[in-house]
Amino acid sequence: MPSPLGHTLAGYALARLMAPGSRTGTVQTLTAANLPDLDYLVGFATGEGGRAHGGPSHSLGAALLCGAAAGLLTPGKRFGATFGLVTAAYTSHVLLDYLSKVAPDEEDDSDEGVPLLWPLTSRRFAAPRQVFLTIETTGRRALTLRRPLTLRRLLNRHNARALLREAAALLPAVALVEAFRRR
Ligand SMILES: [Zn+2]
Repeated sequence: MPSPLGHTLAGYALARLMAPGSRTGTVQTLTAANLPDLDYLVGFATGEGGRAHGGPSHSLGAALLCGAAAGLLTPGKRFGATFGLVTAAYTSHVLLDYLSKVAPDEEDDSDEGVPLLWPLTSRRFAAPRQVFLTIETTGRRALTLRRPLTLRRLLNRHNARALLREAAALLPAVALVEAFRRR
């Protein structure tokens, strides 16, 4: 999966495109663009580390559910506008993760890829080519609430390359949207 930097840049581009000038819309978009990774908290709490990550929360079904919930819970807004915005932001997360996964091996039950079409199928899908790099932690021990993520475990050359790749791909998208808005 890409880092929160990549997900936030994608969310920001969508917010500027679909809800320019709306503070609520921007907050909802940035939240939805990062929301699927809250499944990490489940892993930390149960001592499973990252193994609980990348389940049904990383699917188009979850994006639609989240969009519908936001549409129903946002007071004073048209359902359709909030539904579209939040679903698009959540979907951007699922797609960026899809683009960071190695294609799953049909022969083994590898947990690579994302369950894109959940709940229709729990089959995992990955892009034919890996576009973004998955953020990795150094150290052998699983992350838990007692052994939380530390900055030291994130500072490595692989993650620096991952961040550069995300910035190189997504900053131009943000710039393009800003240019479009200023026309
Ligand atoms: Zn993710």
